[in-house]
Amino acid sequence: MATESVTDRWRRVSDEIAEASQAVGRDPDDITTVVVTKFHPAPLVRELEAAGVRHVGESRHQEASAKYAELTDLDLTWHFVGQLQSNKARAVADYCSVIHSLDRSSVVAKLATLEHSIDGFIEINLTGDPGRGGVSPDDLGALTEQILSTPTITLRGVMAVAPQGEPPVDAFARVRQLHNTVLALAPSATGLSIGMSGDYREAIAAGATHLRIGTAITGKRPAAT
Ligand SMILES: *Cc1c(COP(=O)(O)O)cnc(C)c1O
Repeated sequence: MATESVTDRWRRVSDEIAEASQAVGRDPDDITTVVVTKFHPAPLVRELEAAGVRHVGESRHQEASAKYAELTDLDLTWHFVGQLQSNKARAVADYCSVIHSLDRSSVVAKLATLEHSIDGFIEINLTGDPGRGGVSPDDLGALTEQILSTPTITLRGVMAVAPQGEPPVDAFARVRQLHNTVLALAPSATGLSIGMSGDYREAIAAGATHLRIGTAITGKRPAAT
């Protein structure tokens, strides 16, 4: 069997997403697939765009900004999904119109000084390990309120990564419950950015509006540098 190309994998995963959506009575058009291209070079992103990908995700500013600079001719929306330091926040907002990893007050304060607006998701930490990205559930309400009083950020919803060692269905049920805390304050923040290569079917069943899929489409990532 010939090796699947990136284009083949994109088509196959897109078909699987459509099937998984229909299986739970959802319209696949309500789901945005963000292809996470971290550690992969610009030509791979170009190939994906030629295959019809319109949303790409990155997790490291230096790498992402260099790649973006090579690809400004493409019709792509760039999403930032990685841990974000406040001193990089404004620079990231130069090329990413969506940030999925808002998780602390200092980052929001920096984004408040932008001259344009961006879309944001609050990342929730489901692990209880403060070293991981994401706001702790205890601080979720306060961060939501801070973002709501920041005109440069349009709050779209919440984002989370299912922890290792917990069935994704259980993790996603917790996210939905925490999402309700946000919705009580921000009724239009209906977005749910959950679902990666290993758990996007469960995420679709749990109501995901945004999937962040890397390796299932890009293939194995080259080693981190
Ligand atoms: C890398 C990454 C993904 C994609 O992971 P895969 O398992 O390769 O699909 C999704 N979300 C975040 C936050 C990531 O860092």
